[in-house]
Amino acid sequence: MSYCSDEDLIAVVMSHEIAHAVAKHSNERMSQQMASQIGASVLESLLFNQSSETKLLAQSVYGLGAQYGVMLPYSRKQEYEADKLGLIFMAMAGYNIDRAVEFWSKMSDSSKSAPPAFMSTHPSDQNRIDAIKKALPEVSKYKKK
Ligand SMILES: [Zn+2]
Repeated sequence: MSYCSDEDLIAVVMSHEIAHAVAKHSNERMSQQMASQIGASVLESLLFNQSSETKLLAQSVYGLGAQYGVMLPYSRKQEYEADKLGLIFMAMAGYNIDRAVEFWSKMSDSSKSAPPAFMSTHPSDQNRIDAIKKALPEVSKYKKK
């Protein structure tokens, strides 16, 4: 999780993974119940926005996710869908959705040298970043008032 230097960036990763779970992308890899439990607990922690607890939970969910195969490659279509849904979750939970562009840009740069594990299943490129930028105005409607 070294790419998640602060809470907004943790929120980018976690909301993206929750989006995969909520959109049932992981249907064949883990039980639906497991996916929804992970999604619910992470989303709850995001919503309550308690910094140290959020980080701890994010780490344990990340480990659990890896164990149950959440961090596996998805199709490009599923990635785009999870990006957009994840942005909506972030906005609803009060996080800065603009940071998503920064996160995926970092991931894109890191692929040129030594990619982290998350990177290998989540390749980022200019198309992905452009799609996220394009979604931002629409997603900002979900921002917590
Ligand atoms: Zn993904």
